[in-house]
Amino acid sequence: MNHDPKTFRIKSFGCQMNVYDGERISELLTETGLAAATDGEDADLVVLNTCHIREKATEKAYSDVGRLKREDGSRPMIALAGCVAQAEGAEAKRRSPMIDMVVGPQAYHRLPEMLREAARGARPVETDMPALSKFDALPKRRRANPSAFLTVQEGCDKFCTYCVVPYTRGAEISRPRADIVAEARALVEGGAKEIVLLGQNVNAWEHEGHGLAELIREIARIEGLERIRYTTSHPADMTDALIEAHGEVEKLMPYLHLPVQSGSDRILKALNRSPTTETYLRTIEKVRAARPDIAVSGDFIVGFPGETEDDFEATLRIVDAVRYAAAYSFKYSARPGTPAAMMEDQIAPEIMDERLQRLHARIAETQLAFNRSTAGRETQVLIERRGRRAGQMIGRSPWLQSVHLHTSAEPGAMLDVTLTAAGPNSMTGALRQKDAA
Ligand code: SAM
Ligand code: SF4
Repeated sequence: MNHDPKTFRIKSFGCQMNVYDGERISELLTETGLAAATDGEDADLVVLNTCHIREKATEKAYSDVGRLKREDGSRPMIALAGCVAQAEGAEAKRRSPMIDMVVGPQAYHRLPEMLREAARGARPVETDMPALSKFDALPKRRRANPSAFLTVQEGCDKFCTYCVVPYTRGAEISRPRADIVAEARALVEGGAKEIVLLGQNVNAWEHEGHGLAELIREIARIEGLERIRYTTSHPADMTDALIEAHGEVEKLMPYLHLPVQSGSDRILKALNRSPTTETYLRTIEKVRAARPDIAVSGDFIVGFPGETEDDFEATLRIVDAVRYAAAYSFKYSARPGTPAAMMEDQIAPEIMDERLQRLHARIAETQLAFNRSTAGRETQVLIERRGRRAGQMIGRSPWLQSVHLHTSAEPGAMLDVTLTAAGPNSMTGALRQKDAA
């Protein structure tokens, strides 16, 4: 192993907050004098930015570590980061002698110091949760993707009975408003056209009496910024002010990720999710009254302990009632240390598989119906990356659909487009006259 790494690679798994953390770690290491390894190059340092949300994540992290051994028997310096690092702590060093350092999601600003300690042969572990100090210690943002993530809130106090987040990410904390606005400005100066505000419960963001709606209105005033999104929201924190913002703030995109998890009130209670399905549906109605074309997405868990066929059918019914434009569904995974892991009536894996398939099929139907409802619309598309075919680019519609189109425009361009055809997972677009040249 090279004790004086010059190049690094970061592998991020899991949620968008991990993607954000991965970007910040990359900026920090660059500022420290390391360079990102190029494609195909062996990096001197590999940071595995892990996810702990579902089972096998821990085992996967250790097998990912094992796979970093090269054919000649050498290996890079290895930092285990993210939520598995937080959950495992010093145990990680005992389980894998290849791990040189362990750093939790609230402590990665200490990586430069840890690299120096590792160079001296130590194997440092940092899993403290010192509130917001990491943000103060990170370098200013300089370059940004056309669509850039910005974490505004971390941790969670909701304690849903199945979820590890309150344990791995700690208590709910909101970053100060001025810091967020400064970071948003830096991202726009660095090339961002869209900012996605992130938090485990982003709509619980609160600072000096201001809520997320006010923060969105303030960020919307940044010149050069064209689009704002936020994710993930908890139904219990969906305030009227935020709903109103959807009708009034032009830059706020018509997309809302509002997970309900189950369509059965009995299961919602067991999940410790606060609103009932009726309250959830009323919230969706209010959001649609404020912004009729809004695309609603969600998350679902199937096979929670005690879930009956009736409970599951209620979930299928809520998919139909909401007409989701997109949704993620997961098989329940028992997480050590969570109350649900100790519950009786765990559901057999084959029943979970069968329910998951039926739920996927139902979501695919509502998603296709939503995509079809937008076909023929004239709208704007933010170009994000190249497609697989020559001359093809991929961008996003306001409703977060992937749009495939032919253009010579580069990532970051905002184009006037007609959505010409709807597919199950994406749209085809054509440039309108003004941009067609
Ligand atoms: N805070 C967000 C919320 O409450 O909707 C979600 C954050 S969580 C990182 C993302 C999704 O992972 C959840 O919405 C849930 O559907 C899923 N999830 C969390 N724990 C899970 C578990 N133990 N088994 C299966 N899915 C789980
Ligand atoms: Fe996990 Fe529930 Fe918190 Fe979401 S609200 S992060 S699902 S505990």
